[in-house]
Amino acid sequence: MVLWLGCIADDFTGATDMASMLVKGGLRTVQTIGVPPDGFENIAADAVVVALKTRSIPAEDAVAQSLEALAALRKTKARRFFFKYCSTFDSTAAGNIGPVAAALEEELRADWVPFCPALPVNGRTVFNGHLFVGDSLLNESGMEMHPLNPMRDSDLRRVLAAQSTTTPGLIPARVVRAGADAVRRAIVEHRRKDIHFSIVDCVDDADLDVLGDAFNDLILVTGGSGLAVGLGKAWVRERRVEEHDDPAALEPREGPGVILSGSCSQTTLAQVRAFEAQGGSVLRIDPVELANGTSALAEAAQWAGAGLGSKPIAIVASDTPDGVAAVQSELGAEKAGQVIEQAFAQLARALVSNGVERLVVAGGETSGAVVSALGVEAMTIGPEIDPGVPWTQVVQGECEGLCLALKSGNFGDEDFFTKAFEVLG
Ligand code: ADP
Repeated sequence: MVLWLGCIADDFTGATDMASMLVKGGLRTVQTIGVPPDGFENIAADAVVVALKTRSIPAEDAVAQSLEALAALRKTKARRFFFKYCSTFDSTAAGNIGPVAAALEEELRADWVPFCPALPVNGRTVFNGHLFVGDSLLNESGMEMHPLNPMRDSDLRRVLAAQSTTTPGLIPARVVRAGADAVRRAIVEHRRKDIHFSIVDCVDDADLDVLGDAFNDLILVTGGSGLAVGLGKAWVRERRVEEHDDPAALEPREGPGVILSGSCSQTTLAQVRAFEAQGGSVLRIDPVELANGTSALAEAAQWAGAGLGSKPIAIVASDTPDGVAAVQSELGAEKAGQVIEQAFAQLARALVSNGVERLVVAGGETSGAVVSALGVEAMTIGPEIDPGVPWTQVVQGECEGLCLALKSGNFGDEDFFTKAFEVLG
């Protein structure tokens, strides 16, 4: 297997989403946490997705980190590069989508770059250059109130123009509908007019297939995870990437399984309730006791140690909004988060050294804390449990072989925790 695609993702769960879409497109895929100390040369995969955390940091830092990842990727045989951002084009007035794309474009000497955030399966579509979430314009979808990067304009050409020194063009839906050759002709036309950044309309999965076909020769593509499937299929069809019977193949471990949940989203709370209702053992840890330095953490580790066996068990800090508010008023929100994340980090280490081989973590921040405590550098992407949440297996780092499923708060069906272990079995 020769690495073909290097993808740079601007956040962690976005990277996992991208990686699982590439697997759907037929590519064996590995996700790394930043640039691993030894680079990418020993990674056996068709695609690697580098998870950075550059979405909301200052633009110059985002550019520097993205270029560093690109330089490391270019030491491999990768011939295609993808800059992955959110399907709601999450960015601030200063970037970072425009500045990062411009830096990658220059470094790769690309002379035309598409911007295609659409993810129709999740209701994110682009028509006449305007981004929709379901049937609402982006700026009326709730995204206009996002705490870090409020999206107050659905006109992506205007949003991108404000983040770059160029006037973006548009490949409209009627051209996409006319097929890959029509899109290729539009690209030639844009280049002729010196348009080198273009927003691309896309309203359904058939459009993604057309675009995958039309873009498969471009050295640099930018967009959401939706485009990964069409591109992957095109690369397999064009024999750039070998065809695999099962690109999601893992070598799943059968040792004890544990769920760690630090997410307090409604979705996760319902998933914890469903797990309990189905007979799963759940231990609730109390953040205030943890903060007071009682023996709560040692007791939790002991409870888990005694309960490890063929059935998965769960340790949760997850609580209702009232419970969270009470904890936060006692400890402050930041301290509460820190105490819990640290507790999960320590528990994860203790569990793995106690023989746990399958770990499900709920919560974006919680997952970040666990992955860094376990010294995970790279994970191969396996079968999907629910959309956007695959099983993975650590292939580089301190706990090689460990199976990990990292679920961001709002993802997954109600029976996610039970289903996770069935999927792996
Ligand atoms: P999500 O993906 O649902 O946003 P995160 O893990 O990213 O989940 O964020 C949840 C945050 O809430 C974490 O910082 C976690 O430590 C914190 N938290 C978890 N349980 C509680 C609780 N009972 N009280 C207060 N904060 C909590």
